[in-house]
Amino acid sequence: MKSSEPDTGHFGVYGGQFVPETLMSPLEELARAYAQSSQDAEFQLELTRLRQHFAGRPTPLFLAQRLSEEVGCKVYLKREDLCHTGAHKINNALGQGLLARQMGKTRLIAETGAGQHGVATATVSALFGLQCEVFMGTEDMQRQALNVVRMELLGARVTPVDSGSRTLKDAINEAMRDWVTNVEDTHYLLGSVLGPHPYPTMVRDFQSVIGREARQQILEYENQLPDLLVACVGGGSNSIGLFHEFLGDDSVRMVGVEAGGKGKQLGEHAARFEGGRVGVLHGTFSYVLQDEQGQVATTHSISAGLDYPSIGPEHAHLRDTGRVQYTSVSDQEALGGFEALSRLEGIIPALESAHAVAYCLKLKEEDGGLTSGDAGSEFPSCLILNLSGRGDKDVEIIRDLRQQ
Ligand SMILES: *Cc1c(COP(=O)(O)O)cnc(C)c1O
Repeated sequence: MKSSEPDTGHFGVYGGQFVPETLMSPLEELARAYAQSSQDAEFQLELTRLRQHFAGRPTPLFLAQRLSEEVGCKVYLKREDLCHTGAHKINNALGQGLLARQMGKTRLIAETGAGQHGVATATVSALFGLQCEVFMGTEDMQRQALNVVRMELLGARVTPVDSGSRTLKDAINEAMRDWVTNVEDTHYLLGSVLGPHPYPTMVRDFQSVIGREARQQILEYENQLPDLLVACVGGGSNSIGLFHEFLGDDSVRMVGVEAGGKGKQLGEHAARFEGGRVGVLHGTFSYVLQDEQGQVATTHSISAGLDYPSIGPEHAHLRDTGRVQYTSVSDQEALGGFEALSRLEGIIPALESAHAVAYCLKLKEEDGGLTSGDAGSEFPSCLILNLSGRGDKDVEIIRDLRQQ
């Protein structure tokens, strides 16, 4: 089952372009340029070259043996943590950066939560010799201070955003505001499968390299498809990047793991499918965490990269159709996943990815807790866990927690 009508940017009833008039023509220009680039052999060749020689693709698919014993089935890790700059974000940044250069843009802007997307954008800006400005909530600047320094070292200007909850949502607001005023020379390099068309489709396509590689690799190693795919879901780009290539394979179950934070109350988590209702945020129609008046709610997660009140529109559609199941794990459980992967496999994961690890560790005790679809499926014999990023950026957070 493929998503419907990607050319109009709709996934079932979700998606679309809910933007001010001034952004309609730049979005059309972008959609046109993107459509052309996907037919352009030279563009594709250059993207492939950069993926290999700059980003370090293909990333390995690693059979994690000690973790497998713990989980109760074969667990393969798709090692996006080994990408240049430490997360899957570079896949999208390379694609859009190349596109921006092709479109004659001289300046890239981006929002960032955990700082990984900001670092990826600053990196491709340096690579292509483009100016770069990254908007970041002051709350996130504090918890991801190291990434702020990295961006500055790469030549980017990091602009603090002190409004609202001072996190990702507010950074996106600022980036959109900047784009409206500077569309002539500026490309807005959005970091996940969010925002108005063509972003959700374009970002998904740039991230789908994850699933294409994983499918080939697992067929080579196991001679069959996995029973289950697991990935954490912030905006939804690393998960859709893994899932997309397998959507037509009915035997492959998929689970997206949202941030359960520290409680079930609005404001304590970022589990859009548990506490959210449909609505529009940042130019797209999807599930949004909001209060009774429709005001966008504040969110909480121990991981900045999952701390966002909405979710990509394609996920909303995949959830409604039951093709993908969604669940959440708490901050505490994610910390358990973080520690487990570090100790069992010698791999320190990003706190975001640790949510997916934590879900796998809970598989044995409960296959419930899923917010949609058929929870009573058979126990998997082989699964792929998308390790979206490495944990260096989170070491300070963990140290502070330990000292408490
Ligand atoms: C940004 C980020 C995420 C969340 O974003 P998605 O678009 O949902 O993938 C997850 N993991 C890491 C390591 C990140 O940097």
